[in-house]
Amino acid sequence: MTAALDLRDLVISYRSRGADTQVVHGVSYHVDPGETVAVVGESGSGKSTVALAALGLLPSNGKLVSGQVLLDGTDIAGWSDRRMSKVRGSRIGLVPQDPGSSLNPVRTIGSQLGEIFRIHRHGRPDDIPGRVVELLGRVGLSQPELRAKQYPHELSGGMQQRVLIASAVALEPQIVVADEPTSALDVTVQKRVLDLLDDLQAQNHMGLILVTHDLAVAAERADRIVVMRSGRVEEEGPAREVITAPASDYAARLLADAPAFTATREPVAEPTRTIADEMDAAAEVRGLVKVFHRGAADFRAVDDVSFQVARGTTHAIVGESGSGKTTTIRMLMGFEAPTEGAVLVEGQEMPTRRGAAWRAMRRRIQIVYQNPFASLDPSQSIGSILEEPMRNFGLGDRAARRARALELLDLVALPADARRRPPRELS
Ligand code: ADP
Ligand code: MG
Repeated sequence: MTAALDLRDLVISYRSRGADTQVVHGVSYHVDPGETVAVVGESGSGKSTVALAALGLLPSNGKLVSGQVLLDGTDIAGWSDRRMSKVRGSRIGLVPQDPGSSLNPVRTIGSQLGEIFRIHRHGRPDDIPGRVVELLGRVGLSQPELRAKQYPHELSGGMQQRVLIASAVALEPQIVVADEPTSALDVTVQKRVLDLLDDLQAQNHMGLILVTHDLAVAAERADRIVVMRSGRVEEEGPAREVITAPASDYAARLLADAPAFTATREPVAEPTRTIADEMDAAAEVRGLVKVFHRGAADFRAVDDVSFQVARGTTHAIVGESGSGKTTTIRMLMGFEAPTEGAVLVEGQEMPTRRGAAWRAMRRRIQIVYQNPFASLDPSQSIGSILEEPMRNFGLGDRAARRARALELLDLVALPADARRRPPRELS
């Protein structure tokens, strides 16, 4: 059988500040028609770089130095952009990682999907609107006629991801490459999106390459698993074998670190609380209510939520998409004023208007965002982003801020030279 996609000995480098750095050192893997191959490996191991190279979509500073990309037996490595644009979509589709930045914000969903049919001159122009609606229905979007007329921001993250899947499968390609297609989504939506990919794959007998850092997903969905490490394939094999009896220490460690495969930790004995402890809550929300006004109707996003976070403890807030988690957190951070109720941080009420008092509170409570792509300013270096809060609060002199930024990079196991790089150069 000819593989649907066969990557052979790919060597890839990136040019950064005048120098080429090789990051992929001879990677080979393939996917057969109707097969799902999961590519796993720690962040920065080269998973996305290889996937993008296969589609001819490396960023402008990236270069496929050598190797073959055999699509149904034909080597398409080094094909011009013009030739590749005919192949992409029609024979090989990509589901990108980040729905937020992958759709054009100023064009309707219908016009973006319709363009795929237009560019590839697929069918009669008059039929395009109908085919778009049919496609939106096929990926399980309710009210497809309405969706076609909407703009990306009017859809939830899960719905946007379905639109991206629709655009990847519109022309029924033989291969779909999905790069962490659900990492920006809630768990409940994640499962639905992965089920959808499974269904479409079975219907079209396509090869699916699923890049994922989630080994539970790989174990459940893939026929084979390819494990990548530092730009090389560390091991590969049938999914069951790799999961139950990994050959390399590296894969064994990835498995041991994967939350879904680790037995739930023993709960720590509940600390005995005294009145004094209660007053020592690091954060507390009391009777929080948030009502949004939507046209004539009011929508209660948060309805009487109270909790206390004692110092030195971790609280999990869980719930499906739309249950009010983010709105609660936004009120806790002071980004959103509660309709009713109060937020206390270290016993002090969170101001609801921005000003000096609000800014002072921002030193005491911090947030780690869900989406790195939208949260890091692309025009600043990593170092400047890290130093910005110190500059804003007038902390230390330049040398001290730089030293602190280096210390912080080290703390999260990033190399010191990340300080001078823009966010797009990090995995
Ligand atoms: P993964 O997808 O496995 O997390 P990536 O393929 O994104 O890994 O990254 C592999 C390596 O290439 C990393 O060292 C990363 O810093 C580097 N890299 C990725 N994109 C760029 C870029 N546009 N410019 C320079 N280096 C990059
Ligand atoms: Mg990646």
